[in-house]
Order: sequence, then structure tokens, then C-alpha cells
Amino acid sequence: MHDVIIIGAGPAGLSAAFWCDELGLDTLVLEQAEQIGGQLHRVYNPVNNYLGLKARNGRELLEHFSAGVEDAGFDLWTGAEIESVDLRAKKIALRSGERLQSIAVIVATGVRARTLNLPGEKEFAGKGMIDSATRDRDLFAGQDVCVVGGGDAAVENALLLADVCPTVTVVHRGRKLRARREFVERLQPNHAVTVFTESVLTRIIGTDHVEAVEIQRKDGLKPFQLAVRGVLIRIGVEPNTELFREQVELDQKSYVAVNSEHETSVSMVFAIGDVSNPTAPTISGATGAGATAAKVIAARLSAQRMHG
Ligand code: NDP
Repeated sequence: MHDVIIIGAGPAGLSAAFWCDELGLDTLVLEQAEQIGGQLHRVYNPVNNYLGLKARNGRELLEHFSAGVEDAGFDLWTGAEIESVDLRAKKIALRSGERLQSIAVIVATGVRARTLNLPGEKEFAGKGMIDSATRDRDLFAGQDVCVVGGGDAAVENALLLADVCPTVTVVHRGRKLRARREFVERLQPNHAVTVFTESVLTRIIGTDHVEAVEIQRKDGLKPFQLAVRGVLIRIGVEPNTELFREQVELDQKSYVAVNSEHETSVSMVFAIGDVSNPTAPTISGATGAGATAAKVIAARLSAQRMHG
């Protein structure tokens, strides 16, 4: 029986782990990936707004965050795939067969990039699917590319690609781009960029590499094909809450609902970081939430132990 089991080792989960450890709680961190860090692995731009620390990208920030993990008092299991969770009983079954139990659970499972679930989207990974314009720009210089999405991420990436690609076609399902005005204003005079609104991508075509996309406009005309060598999809994120769906209150977008102590609708189950923060997901917010949850748990356990 552990005091705390933390599910997820991104910035929120790691922060909670260090705090729990410092507060003397017996803590186990479960991370389903083989490496810790969560979404920090997908941050390719410099991180300049984490107080007191500047990093060239998410991985560099992770080096700071993970310093001391080996010597810390908490246990950290990577590659720990959860089969089922019973949040009320605080019981977790891993696919590897282990059965775990704790007094408190901290959910720090984060969000993942939304996908279109089109054939080819996964198969062409590394063969034309662009992960990030910042990272992959040189690879696609001189090639025609397509960007899907209408938010800040899609438009910012389209602008970066337009510096080096002869054509950038933005495909957006809505009537108007949703990205901030500065980005959209920079897009309009850019001769490399064409925007198709009220349009969706219906196929990614190619044999060994992306060769074209099929675009369907909402005006009902037949879909058409466009020759491109690269496709970047930036259609937002969705929370990793499938494991908890039936057990804890979620909001309309499936994020975990929490109170100001980061406690969920189930007593002694907390949620921290992006999985419970649809409005302002930030790295600083995630690490702060980790500290809050740990302190609340420590105070409750200490009160229980004093009275019990
Ligand atoms: P957003 O959620 O802001 O936008 C997602 C876009 O994808 C929307 O235009 C949406 O269309 C579209 N979309 C969603 N689902 C689908 C689907 N299934 N098929 C087709 N299109 C779809 O996500 P972003 O990733 O752009 O941004 C996330 C956050 O990160 C925001 O807060 C943003 O401001 C921030 N950000 C900030 C940057 C910066 O400061 N430099 C850069 C990048 C991101 P619709 O409009 O029709 O709903």
C-alpha cells in the first residue's frame, strides 16, 4: 500500500512526485511511455516563460526537471501500462500483472495531439508527416506542403513553412481561421499560402512517401487532389481520460473537473496539469498544481494519522 500513486510523469506528475517525496509520502509514479517528460518531448520552440529557467526546447527543460530523479525517494516505473483503475478503491491493475493500491491517486495523464484518423496519417510518420515546422522545416524546404487546422498552432506552423516552401495549403474545416489576428494578418499577404476554409482532408495519398492529399470542400463539389510532399496536422489536443471516464466527473470536453485543491469528484483522487486544465495549460501551471495536490494530500494524511 502506497500513500500516493501518481499516473503520468510529465511536468505535473514529476513536480507532484518531488513534492510528495519531500513531504515524506511513500510515492509511486507510473508512466506508460518508456521515457518521462510527456509533452515536453513535443515542444520544439524555446521555453522562455518558466520562471528562472530558459531552455532551447522542451527536452532541455526536461533535463532540469528530471535532475535528481534517480536519487529521489519515490519509485518511478516507466513502460507501466495500466489495464484498469478503480478510483474509489484506489486500486490499479497493470498489464504486466502487478496489482497496486494507495491512499491517494494523482491523475497527471496530460493531453495528446488530436488526430484526423485518416488512412496514411500513422503510416507516413517520418515519410511526409511533419511533426513540427520548427524542427522539420529544413527537411521540407523547397517542397509543397499542406497544413490542417485553423488555430494558432496551424497558422504559426504554416507561416514558418511558408518561409522555405514554394506552396503551403492550409485546410480548415471552419468558415474563418480561429488563430490570433497577428498570425492571420501575416498569412494573407504571403504569396506562398493558400487557405481553403470549410474544407476537410479526406485522404493522404502516396506509396512510400506522402505524394498528395485529397480535399473535400463543404460546397458539395467532388473532392480534389493536391500534390504535396508534406502534411502537418495541428487540430488541437484532447485529454487522456479514457481510463477514468466512468468514474470521475469530467467536463464537456472530457477534461477532469477539479476544485481549488485539485481534488476531483472522488475523495483523495486529484488531477493536475493539462488533463484538468482546458483553459490555460502551461508548464508553470502544471508544476504548481503538482505542489498543491501533494501538500493537500500530506496535510490530510497527517491529520488522519494523528487522529487514527
Ligand atoms: P486550438 O484548439 O486552438 O485549434 C484547433 C483547430 O483545429 C481549430 O481551428 C479547430 O477547428 C480545428 N479542429 C479541431 N478538430 C478538428 C478535426 N477533427 N478536424 C479538422 N479540424 C479540427 O488548438 P491549437 O493547437 O491551434 O492551439 C492550442 C493552444 O496553444 C491554444 O491556446 C493556442 O493559443 C496555443 N498556441 C500558442 C502559440 C503561440 O503563442 N505562439 C502557438 C501555437 C499554439 P474549429 O475552429 O472549426 O473548431
